[in-house]
Amino acid sequence: MILVTKPFLPKNEEYIKKVNTIFENNWITNNGPFSQKLEYEITNFLEIPSLHFLSNGTMALHLSIKALDLKGEVITSPFSFVATTTSIIWEKCTPVYVDIHPDTLCIDPDKIEAAITKNTTAILATHVYGIPCDVEKIEIIAKKHNLKVIYDAAHAFGVKFKGKSLLNYGDISTLSFHATKLFHTVEGGGIVNNLGEKLDKKITLLRNFGFEGDNYYLAGVNAKNSEFHAAMGLCNLPYVSEIINKRKKLVCKYNEILADIVQRPSIPKETEYNYSYYPIIFKTAEQLLNVQQVLLENKIQTRRYFFPSLNNLPYLYTSQYCPISENIASRVLCLPLYFDLEIEMVEEIAYKVREVCI
Ligand SMILES: *Cc1c(COP(=O)(O)O)cnc(C)c1O
Repeated sequence: MILVTKPFLPKNEEYIKKVNTIFENNWITNNGPFSQKLEYEITNFLEIPSLHFLSNGTMALHLSIKALDLKGEVITSPFSFVATTTSIIWEKCTPVYVDIHPDTLCIDPDKIEAAITKNTTAILATHVYGIPCDVEKIEIIAKKHNLKVIYDAAHAFGVKFKGKSLLNYGDISTLSFHATKLFHTVEGGGIVNNLGEKLDKKITLLRNFGFEGDNYYLAGVNAKNSEFHAAMGLCNLPYVSEIINKRKKLVCKYNEILADIVQRPSIPKETEYNYSYYPIIFKTAEQLLNVQQVLLENKIQTRRYFFPSLNNLPYLYTSQYCPISENIASRVLCLPLYFDLEIEMVEEIAYKVREVCI
């Protein structure tokens, strides 16, 4: 079976060496030396102000909402992973969906203002598949209406926009280092805070039960990560450029064979992209299901990522209509893409898709 994704693994010896160090130190969690080193190295690698290493990307979303003290309505994208919405709900805010732009599949900035009410406190938008949201327009709107901006940047590790890290846009960017992401720590996540030291302190407290020494400042949670996870991150980080290059090669091959028969989301100008997924948009949902079925018969797994459109989740209180997101969600399919995938396999998959579509 060819899986739709497969975690990158460093050399076994490299990881074991670090595990031996952890055993020697006997410091296995609670902001140990590897966690600190990983934060430092990622900060340098991504050229970001700082990084808070966390247990996962979902906790990164939760802590961001808490840290910014958001209340009321949060404008968000219906075309994302479910955690983007559930974090808003768990933090007792109301998700208000603004439809996506049909080219980038990110939130459509020209539709945001119409959704703002006196209860709106923030915009939580996803750089979906690592494609930058229209960060400049969103910044103007947020300033005008005094809203906070969080980007769910779980897909955007290593992406640059206009010469700087995409993570430096907005008030906060959240990352996921889950096993299936481009860069991973098995389980893990991170917060990039662009609002300075005071908020950094608050996030550090929130991550660790809200206390420091004998002082209990606020109601925090346990969102720390372990030395074993940090060690995996330190092993994987040096490979990131190689991983992105390999993915680029595979994506170019897919495009070569499929460009004329399926639609692809478009990447804004001045983006240095990371090739984190390979989504294709079929003419109809029926065509998608046909292709998915034929590929499965050939032992090739694909994923309807993202489906359904989040505004249609069954546990929302209000029904909201996002026709573009709903339409795209019904027709989009991600093909296998990961570091170990061979280019010959990509050819085989792409030709199978072609056969069904023509
Ligand atoms: C993976 C992902 C998350 C959640 O990250 P976890 O580390 O799995 O908790 C959040 N948002 C998006 C867009 C994701 O793809």
